[in-house]
Amino acid sequence: MSCAVCGAARARSKLRTGGVEILECASCGLAFWRSPSGHRPETVYDAAYFAGTSADHGYDDYGNLERSLRRTFARRLSRMPIPAAGSRLLDVGAAYGFALVEARRAGWVAVGLEISADAARRARRLNPGRLVIANAAAVPCAGDSFDAVTLWDVLEHLPEPHAALAEIARILRPGGRLVLTTGDVGSLAARLSGSRWHLYTIPEHLFFYTRKSLRMLLEAHGFRVESLRAEGSTYTLGYLMERLRKTLLRRSSPTRTRWPGSELRVPVNLFDIVTARAVLGERG
Ligand SMILES: [Zn+2]
Repeated sequence: MSCAVCGAARARSKLRTGGVEILECASCGLAFWRSPSGHRPETVYDAAYFAGTSADHGYDDYGNLERSLRRTFARRLSRMPIPAAGSRLLDVGAAYGFALVEARRAGWVAVGLEISADAARRARRLNPGRLVIANAAAVPCAGDSFDAVTLWDVLEHLPEPHAALAEIARILRPGGRLVLTTGDVGSLAARLSGSRWHLYTIPEHLFFYTRKSLRMLLEAHGFRVESLRAEGSTYTLGYLMERLRKTLLRRSSPTRTRWPGSELRVPVNLFDIVTARAVLGERG
């Protein structure tokens, strides 16, 4: 079994979590698990995944996170250059469309790509006419048709990273920008947390990138990486308390505790989510 990013054949066992063995590429450090053959991401992202009614995976309730997510997306977008009039942005993995709303407020002509029909239905309420239901590895858009592409905490969900990046490079114009966030498995927080790292969420997260593997993936598709930085996110206090409890008690309970003040939003930098900002080079 070869590494999905660098192609190296040698992998070592890293740890066990969520009932699976996490392997680590000996060359680029990409961590991954052997998803069962026939694993179809479309079936993971059903309505229960976002609504918090699934027994074994997904969000607590994605809709409840709207305010903290929108604040995070607005901050991430504010670090991009101010778009010229008519500049087009594609948000891959748009979920409920919260980032699309913020991208439009920031001046982009923004379109969302979403694999889940359930999520796209929600996203359309906030962004009428701006959602495309499709897989990131087959985007139904013309080449060179976007000035920017964003993937907010999406890359780790994609089963074919090279196929997705090839599509993104195709639809972006040369000089266009790619901004993405993903967990940094090589970060201190990830290493200290071991098998309890909060981003080891199985089965939705398929890959856990190191900065090295992320850079290799982007450069393989003609991107020049401008920066790889832990820029911080806004969490609800409830999320942070739940995470702390899981880490300290070393177990997760099936019932989620409602902490007082759990809806409070707190900007925190755990330094374990990396933001990559890259520019597509001229086609050679
Ligand atoms: Zn590798």
